[in-house]
Formats: sequence, C-alpha cells, structure tokens
Amino acid sequence: MKNIELIRALPKPETHLHLEGALPWHFLNQKDPHRFGKEPFFRNNSFRYDSFSHFESILIEHALEIFKSAEDYYHVASSIFKNLKSQNVRYVETSFHAGMIEFLRIPGKEILEAISSASPDELEVRVFMGISRNAYTEYLSSELDQAIENWENLAGIDLHGPEELPFESWTIPFWEKAKKNDRILKAHAGEFGPSSNIDQAITELGVRRVQHGVAARDSEATLNLIKENNVCLDMCPISNYKLKVINTWSEHPLKFFIEEGICCTLSTDDPFSFNNTLEEEYLNCLEKLNMEPTDLIKLAKNGFEVADLNLDKKKDLFAEINKLVQEIDEGRFSE
Ligand SMILES: [Zn+2]
Repeated sequence: MKNIELIRALPKPETHLHLEGALPWHFLNQKDPHRFGKEPFFRNNSFRYDSFSHFESILIEHALEIFKSAEDYYHVASSIFKNLKSQNVRYVETSFHAGMIEFLRIPGKEILEAISSASPDELEVRVFMGISRNAYTEYLSSELDQAIENWENLAGIDLHGPEELPFESWTIPFWEKAKKNDRILKAHAGEFGPSSNIDQAITELGVRRVQHGVAARDSEATLNLIKENNVCLDMCPISNYKLKVINTWSEHPLKFFIEEGICCTLSTDDPFSFNNTLEEEYLNCLEKLNMEPTDLIKLAKNGFEVADLNLDKKKDLFAEINKLVQEIDEGRFSE
C-alpha cells in the first residue's frame, strides 16, 4: 500500500485549526532572516513541550512578530489556505483568538473579514472565534456580544484557555445566546482537564463539537454522554503527543474511540508549534496509532459529515471518497 499516495488522494477536512497557531514559518524568516534564519528547536520532530504555558509563551512571542493588523491576518490566512489546498483539503474550520482583538486594538469584525476573504476557490472555510475562559473583559464584552448577534460571517465560537479555570457567570448564557443566533458551538475540553470538563461542555454549554476530548477514555459515563448526544471529537494526536497530554503513542485513544463508534475527526491544531501537516497526521495514524486505511477514510468522512456544508456538497464529497475506496479495493494503492 502506498499510503502517502492514498492520503493525498483522499479529500480531507481540517476542523480544528488555530489561525495564529498555523502561522507559516516563512513569514518570520522573511521578516527577519537573521533572527529567524533556521528552524528553531521547538519545530524539531522529537521536541516535546514541558507544559501548556511553555507552548503558549513560545507561540505568542512569535505570533506577535507577524500579526499586527487585519491585513496581516489576510496574508497569513491566504498562505495557510493555499497550503491546505495543496494537501487536498476541501473544508476548513479555523478559529482566531478573541484576545488578539483587545491586544492589537483591531475591531474583531475586521479580523474575521480578513480571514474569510482569504479563502480560495474550491476550499470551503468557516471562521470561528476562540474565546478564553476568562476573556469576557470590560474591553471585549461588547465586541463578543456584537460578534454572536451581528457578524454574518462568523460560523461559531470555541472555548479556549486553561481548562482549570471554571466557567464564569457569563459563559453559559453566552453560549446559549450564540446557539439562538445559529452559531456552531465548540469547546476545548478533556485535553489537559478531566473527563468532567467534557461532560460540562456537553450538558452546560450545549456543544456537540468537543476539541480534543482525550480524557473521555477515563470515563464510561462520558463516553456514553458523547454517544447519546452525537458529539464529535475534533482530535489532534501530534499536538497531544508534543504537549504530553499522552506519554506514549500507545496511550492515545483515537483508535479506541473509533471502535466505540464515536465520531472523531483528525486535525493539526497549531502547526506552527508542532511543525505538522495534515498529511503527516494521517500517516501518523497508520504508523503510530495502529490504524488502517479504512480508519482514515472514516476520519475524513466524519469531518465532512459534521461540516457546515449543504447536502449536495456533502454528497459530492462522499461520492468522491467512495470512488477512492473502490480504487483501493481494486489495488490502486498496492505496491
Ligand atoms: Zn486547539
């Protein structure tokens, strides 16, 4: 089986991607070839972060070199989308960090429009706003309210930030209001935090898209809750490995979740920090997670199933994948 050819031929969704965390390295290199001349230690394949704050501080330090205006978001997003298209990605859900609105003092809507307008032909892009657990500040609150009420191109919201922080008084009503305004609801949960955070995201925030959800492996009740509510887990194994959410590859629950009949998708999270591509994520599933090509097909289909796409578009994608499956059966990817 020529796995890499199969992975390339497979139409893929990318459903868990932080825009700032997807900054292509060449932007830094072009900006300051002296300082950013060679790839840094943290982009080495074998590198693993000591902690979430270690990861976050390195990412922020570099991102702030490049993201200064809405135009910068446009250029970076254009480059990211072009790269995804070259990997045969057809659908992308990406989030930008609401905290940047306050930090850069740029209207959030301008950031949203810049990213949205960067989407090329034949790539469907949905833009989410990532909101930290403690982001409802005096400065940001009115922007956030405006966003879910009036920003037409905002696909949805995603809860970000350290999982040990509890929900604040604004959180649940805010997610409810977003739902009323037809926004797609996501939350990061069960990455570093316990399975109870996943339960809380599902029952209290009403999300049906959990980002990571690794900790569901620790609780039968959480697994049942996920199944009963048709929750989909947007998983990123390389991120989990490099952030030491898992100690060894054999601990990663993706294969187990698929066997349990749970909807999982496959994404890259923060490719700037992990130096991973979506194709590498798929290959990694075969090489490190004991998965089969049929599992990869399932992951891609799941992503299109939960995608914010019309039925005709989904049918076309499924037909294309089914044709590929037939070609696999006929031996197209055999040695
Ligand atoms: Zn994430």
